[in-house]
Amino acid sequence: MESYRELVGNLHVHSVYSDGSGTYREIAAAAAAAQLNFVIVTDHNIRPSGLEGFHDQTLVLSGEELHNVRSLPQRNHLLVYGAGKEMAPYTFGNTQTLIQASRERDGVCVIAHPIERRSPIRPELGAIPWTDWPPDGVHGLEVWNYMSEFKGLLWSWFAAAIYAFRPDWGIRGPYRSTLRLWDELLSRGYRLSAFGGADAHAASYNLGPVHRKVFPYDYLFRCVNTHILASAPLSGDVEEDRALIYEALRAGRTWVAYDLPHSSRGFRCLAKSGSATAVPGEELRRLGAINIVVTLPAPGEIILLRDGRRVLTTRGSGLNYTSIEPGIYRVEVYRQFRGRRVGWIFTSPIYAR
Ligand SMILES: [Zn+2]
Ligand SMILES: [Zn+2]
Repeated sequence: MESYRELVGNLHVHSVYSDGSGTYREIAAAAAAAQLNFVIVTDHNIRPSGLEGFHDQTLVLSGEELHNVRSLPQRNHLLVYGAGKEMAPYTFGNTQTLIQASRERDGVCVIAHPIERRSPIRPELGAIPWTDWPPDGVHGLEVWNYMSEFKGLLWSWFAAAIYAFRPDWGIRGPYRSTLRLWDELLSRGYRLSAFGGADAHAASYNLGPVHRKVFPYDYLFRCVNTHILASAPLSGDVEEDRALIYEALRAGRTWVAYDLPHSSRGFRCLAKSGSATAVPGEELRRLGAINIVVTLPAPGEIILLRDGRRVLTTRGSGLNYTSIEPGIYRVEVYRQFRGRRVGWIFTSPIYAR
C-alpha cells in the first residue's frame, strides 16, 4: 500500500472535437486550476491524436466515448482508455466486438452512465442507458456521472432554473439502482471497479427563463472525480505517466469521490490478512481473519458492505473492522453538505477470497 501514490483525475470530458465547448487547451487549464493530476478527454466516437501532454502539473490524455450511431435511440455508451487508437470503426457491430477490439489493444473499458433518467422538460436530453448486458470484458462501471445526475434533476422548468445556478442543492450521489446493479453483477462473478466523472461539456442551454452554461469545466473538475492508486509518482514523462495511469485503471485501484464538499485526497482503505494486504480493486488472499482499515481526511458516515449487504455503519474519521468472512467488500462514505446528506466516496471492491 505504502508504495502506491494517489492521483486524482477526471475521466469523462468532452471537447470541441465532439459536443463540448472547450478546446484541449481550455480543458487542460481548467484541470490544472482544479489541481487534478490528470484529465482524460473522451469525445464521442473520435480520438484526436497528438494532443496529449502536460499542462503545468496536469497530464492531459485522450480516451474516447463510443457508441453505435446507427442504433437509435442512443444507448450503450462505452468509455475506452488507453487503446492508443481510434476505436470508432469498431462501433458498427455489437458492443462485444468493440470491447474485444479495445481489449486486444490493452484498452480499459468502462460502461458510461449504466442507468440514466431522462429529463421530461428537454426531450433532446433523453436517457442513454446501457442495455447490452451482461458486461463481459468490461473493467468497471461509471457508478457516478455528474452531468447524467444533473440531467435527471431537470424534472420541471422551476427545478431547472434553480439547479442551473445551484447544482450543489440537487446533486446527491450515485443512484441506488446503479449501486444495486453493481452489487448484483459483482455477486455473479463480474469484477467491476468504480469509475466516475464529470461528463463535462460546458455547453450553454436555455433552461426556461434561464440561459446558462452548465457547467464550466473548472467547476466540474472540483466535483465528481476518480482517485487512483498508481504504482509510482508521475515522472513528467508523458509515455511513462500514461502507462502508469492506465495500469492503475486497468487494475481498478480506484475510488470515486465528490470532492466539492471536501477533497477526498488522503482517503485510504486497506484490507489485511496475515502478511497479505489489498487496496480497492485487488484480491486479498485470506489467511485467518481479515482486518479492514479505513481512514478519512475529514469525518463522514462510513458504510462497509460485504456482498452488497451492510456489515457496519459508523461515523467518524475512520473504521477498523475485523471479520473471518470472505466476500466482496466495498466502502461508501457520506457527508453533510448544504444541509443534506450527500455521497462522498465510493470505493472499488476488495475481493477477499
Ligand atoms: Zn454518454
Ligand atoms: Zn459523455
